Amino acid sequence: MTSEELRKIFNQKKQKIERTVSKKGIVKEKLVEGFEKTTFEEFQTWFKISKYQDGCNYCGTSSISTHKLFNDAISGARHNWTRGGKRGKRLELDRVDPSKKYDELQNLVWCCYWCNNAKSNFFTKVEFEPIAKEIGKAIKKMIEQH
Ligand SMILES: [Zn+2]
Repeated sequence: MTSEELRKIFNQKKQKIERTVSKKGIVKEKLVEGFEKTTFEEFQTWFKISKYQDGCNYCGTSSISTHKLFNDAISGARHNWTRGGKRGKRLELDRVDPSKKYDELQNLVWCCYWCNNAKSNFFTKVEFEPIAKEIGKAIKKMIEQH
């Protein structure tokens, strides 16, 4: 991971308000949670101990594997699951306890797109363990057949 890539991830994860305007001109604002107080330097320090190289915190899928499957989706070898290329290129940031803010860096982990989606804000870390185990197995099988 280059410093440039890390900065990109950090900037994407800053808290923001998304505004959409309906056909009738109604403006809707949605808060997208993210970093409020965390500086890039703090994020960089966290990154060094974040075990990105160990893969998804829940299922163990590596960033290399998710990138391979991302490329399959972009090339058309698989159905495009990437939400327009916006998801799944690499591991994503997940709040283990979603009730905590992104600024609580000790609560952040790297996880794969599939675990991030499945865990959502519903399952606790412990409740999600058996599900993650199966996701990891399924992804591993796909990569072996790759
Ligand atoms: Zn995973």
